[in-house]
Amino acid sequence: MKFELNNFELTGRLRAVLFDMDGVLFDSMPNHAYAWSHAMTDFGLKMKPEEVYMNEGRTGSGTISILAQRYWGREATEEECQRIYEAKSQLFNSMPEPGPMAGAKEVLERVKASGLMRVIVTGSGTTSLLERLEGAFPGMFRRELMVTAFDVQHGKPNPEPYLMGLKKANISADEAIVVENAPLGIQAARAAGIYTIAVNTGPLKDEVLKEAGADLVLPSMQYLADHWHDTIFNLPTIVS
Ligand code: CA
Repeated sequence: MKFELNNFELTGRLRAVLFDMDGVLFDSMPNHAYAWSHAMTDFGLKMKPEEVYMNEGRTGSGTISILAQRYWGREATEEECQRIYEAKSQLFNSMPEPGPMAGAKEVLERVKASGLMRVIVTGSGTTSLLERLEGAFPGMFRRELMVTAFDVQHGKPNPEPYLMGLKKANISADEAIVVENAPLGIQAARAAGIYTIAVNTGPLKDEVLKEAGADLVLPSMQYLADHWHDTIFNLPTIVS
Protein backbone atom coordinates (compact mmCIF):
# COMPACT_ATOMS: atom_id res chain seq x y z
CA MET A 1 0.00 0.00 0.00
CA LYS A 2 1.14 3.50 -0.70
CA PHE A 3 0.60 6.70 1.12
CA GLU A 4 -2.34 8.49 -0.37
CA LEU A 5 -2.23 12.19 -0.79
CA ASN A 6 -5.45 14.06 -1.09
CA ASN A 7 -4.77 17.66 -2.05
CA PHE A 8 -1.43 17.16 -0.35
CA GLU A 9 -3.12 16.02 2.83
CA LEU A 10 -1.97 12.66 3.94
CA THR A 11 -4.64 10.12 4.63
CA GLY A 12 -2.10 7.41 5.35
CA ARG A 13 -0.28 7.07 8.63
CA LEU A 14 2.86 9.00 7.79
CA ARG A 15 3.03 11.69 10.44
CA ALA A 16 6.58 12.95 10.66
CA VAL A 17 9.87 13.40 8.86
CA LEU A 18 12.95 13.03 11.04
CA PHE A 19 15.84 15.13 9.77
CA ASP A 20 19.51 14.76 10.46
CA MET A 21 21.17 18.19 10.47
CA ASP A 22 24.81 18.34 9.27
CA GLY A 23 25.02 17.47 5.58
CA VAL A 24 21.22 17.45 5.28
CA LEU A 25 19.91 20.84 6.43
CA PHE A 26 23.25 22.65 6.65
CA ASP A 27 26.12 22.43 4.19
CA SER A 28 28.55 21.99 7.05
CA MET A 29 30.37 18.79 6.17
CA PRO A 30 33.17 20.34 4.06
CA ASN A 31 34.10 22.48 7.08
CA HIS A 32 33.96 19.49 9.43
CA ALA A 33 36.09 17.43 7.04
CA TYR A 34 38.69 20.20 6.77
CA ALA A 35 38.77 20.86 10.52
CA TRP A 36 39.04 17.18 11.48
CA SER A 37 41.76 16.31 8.99
CA HIS A 38 43.87 19.36 9.89
CA ALA A 39 43.43 19.02 13.64
CA MET A 40 44.40 15.34 13.47
CA THR A 41 47.55 16.13 11.46
CA ASP A 42 48.72 18.46 14.23
CA PHE A 43 48.65 15.49 16.60
CA GLY A 44 50.39 13.06 14.24
CA LEU A 45 47.17 11.36 13.17
CA LYS A 46 46.14 11.13 9.55
CA MET A 47 42.51 11.47 8.64
CA LYS A 48 41.54 11.93 5.01
CA PRO A 49 38.41 13.98 4.35
CA GLU A 50 36.62 10.88 3.04
CA GLU A 51 37.19 9.15 6.36
CA VAL A 52 35.55 12.10 8.09
CA TYR A 53 32.46 11.45 5.97
CA MET A 54 32.58 7.72 6.78
CA ASN A 55 32.68 8.52 10.51
CA GLU A 56 30.18 11.35 10.40
CA GLY A 57 27.80 11.13 13.33
CA ARG A 58 30.24 9.40 15.65
CA THR A 59 31.12 11.27 18.84
CA GLY A 60 34.37 13.25 18.81
CA SER A 61 36.11 10.89 21.23
CA GLY A 62 34.85 7.87 19.27
CA THR A 63 36.45 9.21 16.11
CA ILE A 64 39.70 10.09 17.88
CA SER A 65 39.85 6.59 19.45
CA ILE A 66 39.76 4.92 16.05
CA LEU A 67 42.68 7.02 14.78
CA ALA A 68 44.64 6.64 18.04
CA GLN A 69 44.34 2.84 17.82
CA ARG A 70 45.57 2.90 14.26
CA TYR A 71 48.51 5.27 14.61
CA TRP A 72 49.46 4.99 18.27
CA GLY A 73 48.36 1.40 18.84
CA ARG A 74 46.51 2.39 22.01
CA GLU A 75 43.46 4.21 23.32
CA ALA A 76 43.58 7.99 23.42
CA THR A 77 43.43 9.32 26.96
CA GLU A 78 40.58 11.54 27.97
CA GLU A 79 42.97 14.50 28.00
CA GLU A 80 44.21 13.75 24.48
CA CYS A 81 40.62 13.45 23.26
CA GLN A 82 39.80 16.80 24.81
CA ARG A 83 42.84 18.54 23.30
CA ILE A 84 42.25 17.16 19.81
CA TYR A 85 38.52 17.87 19.92
CA GLU A 86 39.20 21.39 21.14
CA ALA A 87 41.66 21.97 18.29
CA LYS A 88 39.12 20.66 15.81
CA SER A 89 36.34 22.84 17.26
CA GLN A 90 38.55 25.93 17.24
CA LEU A 91 39.42 25.42 13.61
CA PHE A 92 35.79 24.69 12.72
CA ASN A 93 34.56 27.80 14.53
CA SER A 94 37.15 29.99 12.80
CA MET A 95 35.68 29.09 9.42
CA PRO A 96 32.76 30.94 7.81
CA GLU A 97 29.43 29.68 9.19
CA PRO A 98 28.02 27.01 6.85
CA GLY A 99 24.90 27.99 5.01
CA PRO A 100 21.72 25.97 4.53
CA MET A 101 21.94 23.02 2.16
CA ALA A 102 20.58 23.88 -1.29
CA GLY A 103 16.99 22.68 -1.48
CA ALA A 104 16.60 22.13 2.28
CA LYS A 105 14.20 25.03 2.74
CA GLU A 106 12.00 23.77 -0.10
CA VAL A 107 11.96 20.25 1.33
CA LEU A 108 10.84 21.63 4.70
CA GLU A 109 8.15 23.73 3.05
CA ARG A 110 6.78 20.67 1.26
CA VAL A 111 6.89 18.59 4.43
CA LYS A 112 5.00 21.31 6.28
CA ALA A 113 2.47 21.69 3.46
CA SER A 114 1.91 17.91 3.62
CA GLY A 115 0.88 18.36 7.25
CA LEU A 116 3.83 16.42 8.64
CA MET A 117 5.83 17.09 11.79
CA ARG A 118 9.47 18.10 11.40
CA VAL A 119 11.79 16.45 13.93
CA ILE A 120 15.53 17.09 14.29
CA VAL A 121 17.77 14.17 15.23
CA THR A 122 21.38 15.31 15.46
CA GLY A 123 24.51 14.26 17.30
CA SER A 124 25.47 17.89 17.56
CA GLY A 125 25.62 19.40 21.02
CA THR A 126 25.66 23.07 20.20
CA THR A 127 23.55 25.05 22.65
CA SER A 128 22.44 27.60 20.05
CA LEU A 129 21.07 24.93 17.71
CA LEU A 130 17.44 26.08 17.76
CA GLU A 131 18.44 29.69 17.10
CA ARG A 132 20.51 28.62 14.11
CA LEU A 133 17.67 26.48 12.77
CA GLU A 134 15.18 29.27 13.34
CA GLY A 135 17.47 31.72 11.53
CA ALA A 136 17.82 29.52 8.45
CA PHE A 137 14.36 27.89 8.48
CA PRO A 138 11.91 30.17 10.31
CA GLY A 139 8.88 28.46 11.81
CA MET A 140 9.95 24.95 10.87
CA PHE A 141 11.20 23.52 14.19
CA ARG A 142 10.30 23.44 17.86
CA ARG A 143 12.55 22.64 20.83
CA GLU A 144 10.25 19.81 21.95
CA LEU A 145 10.81 18.04 18.65
CA MET A 146 14.60 18.08 18.69
CA VAL A 147 17.00 15.35 19.72
CA THR A 148 20.57 16.55 20.30
CA ALA A 149 23.71 15.16 21.94
CA PHE A 150 22.24 16.22 25.30
CA ASP A 151 19.22 13.91 24.99
CA VAL A 152 20.88 10.53 24.50
CA GLN A 153 23.38 8.17 26.11
CA HIS A 154 24.50 6.61 22.84
CA GLY A 155 25.09 8.44 19.59
CA LYS A 156 24.54 7.16 16.05
CA PRO A 157 24.96 4.40 14.81
CA ASN A 158 23.06 3.38 17.95
CA PRO A 159 19.30 3.63 17.29
CA GLU A 160 18.74 5.61 20.49
CA PRO A 161 18.68 9.11 18.88
CA TYR A 162 16.03 8.06 16.35
CA LEU A 163 14.02 6.12 18.94
CA MET A 164 14.10 9.27 21.07
CA GLY A 165 12.88 11.28 18.07
CA LEU A 166 9.89 8.94 17.68
CA LYS A 167 9.20 9.21 21.40
CA LYS A 168 9.30 13.00 21.39
CA ALA A 169 6.90 13.07 18.42
CA ASN A 170 4.77 10.41 20.14
CA ILE A 171 4.67 8.20 17.05
CA SER A 172 5.83 4.74 16.02
CA ALA A 173 8.53 3.77 13.53
CA ASP A 174 6.02 3.09 10.74
CA GLU A 175 4.62 6.61 11.01
CA ALA A 176 7.88 8.31 10.11
CA ILE A 177 10.59 8.57 7.52
CA VAL A 178 14.18 9.70 8.03
CA VAL A 179 16.34 11.92 5.83
CA GLU A 180 20.03 11.21 6.41
CA ASN A 181 23.31 11.68 4.58
CA ALA A 182 25.82 9.60 6.53
CA PRO A 183 26.39 5.82 6.77
CA LEU A 184 26.29 5.77 10.59
CA GLY A 185 23.14 7.89 10.64
CA ILE A 186 21.49 5.58 8.14
CA GLN A 187 22.44 2.58 10.27
CA ALA A 188 20.95 4.26 13.33
CA ALA A 189 17.68 5.07 11.55
CA ARG A 190 17.34 1.55 10.12
CA ALA A 191 18.15 0.02 13.50
CA ALA A 192 15.25 2.09 14.86
CA GLY A 193 13.06 0.47 12.18
CA ILE A 194 12.39 3.64 10.19
CA TYR A 195 12.20 3.97 6.38
CA THR A 196 15.33 5.93 5.46
CA ILE A 197 15.94 8.25 2.54
CA ALA A 198 19.62 9.00 2.01
CA VAL A 199 20.59 12.22 0.28
CA ASN A 200 24.08 11.88 -1.10
CA THR A 201 25.40 15.37 -0.42
CA GLY A 202 29.04 14.35 0.08
CA PRO A 203 31.86 12.51 -1.70
CA LEU A 204 30.85 8.93 -0.79
CA LYS A 205 29.54 6.54 -3.41
CA ASP A 206 25.80 5.77 -3.46
CA GLU A 207 26.70 2.11 -2.78
CA VAL A 208 28.17 3.04 0.60
CA LEU A 209 24.85 4.59 1.63
CA LYS A 210 22.89 1.62 0.26
CA GLU A 211 25.14 -0.82 2.10
CA ALA A 212 24.52 1.15 5.31
CA GLY A 213 20.84 0.28 4.81
CA ALA A 214 19.30 3.25 2.99
CA ASP A 215 15.92 2.37 1.49
CA LEU A 216 16.29 5.07 -1.15
CA VAL A 217 19.33 7.10 -2.24
CA LEU A 218 18.72 10.51 -3.82
CA PRO A 219 21.39 12.84 -5.23
CA SER A 220 20.54 15.97 -3.24
CA MET A 221 18.06 17.82 -1.07
CA GLN A 222 17.09 19.83 -4.15
CA TYR A 223 16.16 16.57 -5.87
CA LEU A 224 14.03 15.55 -2.89
CA ALA A 225 12.33 18.96 -2.97
CA ASP A 226 11.67 18.73 -6.71
CA HIS A 227 10.34 15.15 -6.42
CA TRP A 228 8.72 15.36 -3.00
CA HIS A 229 5.23 14.24 -3.97
CA ASP A 230 6.48 11.41 -6.21
CA THR A 231 8.77 10.24 -3.46
CA ILE A 232 5.98 10.14 -0.89
CA PHE A 233 3.51 8.53 -3.31
CA ASN A 234 5.99 5.83 -4.14
CA LEU A 235 7.01 4.88 -0.67
CA PRO A 236 6.63 1.14 -0.24
CA THR A 237 4.47 -0.31 2.48
CA ILE A 238 5.21 1.29 5.74
CA VAL A 239 1.58 1.74 6.50
CA SER A 240 -0.55 -1.35 7.12
CA1 CA B 1 24.71 14.16 8.82
